[in-house]
Amino acid sequence: MSKMKKLIAGNWKMNGSLAANEALLRELSQGLAIAPVCEVLVCVPAPYLAQISALKAGCAALSALELGAQDVSAQASGAYTGEVSAAMLKDMGCRYVIVGHSERRQYHFETDALVADKAKVALATGITPIVCVGETLAEREAGRTEEVVKRQLAAVIHANGHCISEIVVAYEPVWAIGTGKTASPEEAQAVHAVLRAQLKAATDKAERIRILYGGSMNAANAESLLTQPDIDGGLIGGASLKAPDFLKIIAAVQV
Ligand code: PEP
Repeated sequence: MSKMKKLIAGNWKMNGSLAANEALLRELSQGLAIAPVCEVLVCVPAPYLAQISALKAGCAALSALELGAQDVSAQASGAYTGEVSAAMLKDMGCRYVIVGHSERRQYHFETDALVADKAKVALATGITPIVCVGETLAEREAGRTEEVVKRQLAAVIHANGHCISEIVVAYEPVWAIGTGKTASPEEAQAVHAVLRAQLKAATDKAERIRILYGGSMNAANAESLLTQPDIDGGLIGGASLKAPDFLKIIAAVQV
């Protein structure tokens, strides 16, 4: 079982506006006034990083809320129109960045090697990459879940060597993202145990690597998932946009 503080991370995806973000953070600040037992993070669209940084700075109840991004360039700087570098994210106060989200693998054709490079550039900049792995429905039905997630994680382990102990992993079955279908706690735990074993083979610090579950986690199912021995937190899309739901997930975390 992991000894690290659990991590509840919201992935806002391409949602929000200046007004909506401010309202969401105001509601969150009320729920976070008493410090939660877990670490709480919001990964927001890049254009709003400055806004969220400023709102955090102006509100004591949000001081413990961590800020993260949803993607990062594998390049350090230069002629890469539209890209955002790890150094820029660091400048904006990001502690975390999601890499290899299935939506980026699917719609932007990100390969395992590119995801590994993104994790590497994040680590080199002092930002913790949240490396997403997960199988599609077709892969699951073909009995390939283990093979797929191990291949995705192996690329990141290979590229990052001993730094691997500094990453966060998120197991996100693609068929469960945004669909309302969730892996059962037992199904999720089984994959998390496979990932933990793979990390143990790569580093003697595997117990301190947090492995999050993501895929339609909500207020009703959070507790049963988060009490599994190898589930060290959640990566939450839809439910992170509704403060009461996100706060209920945070409240479901036990030490
Ligand atoms: C996600 O975007 O990483 C995610 C898990 O989304 P949802 O919670 O909406 O399934």
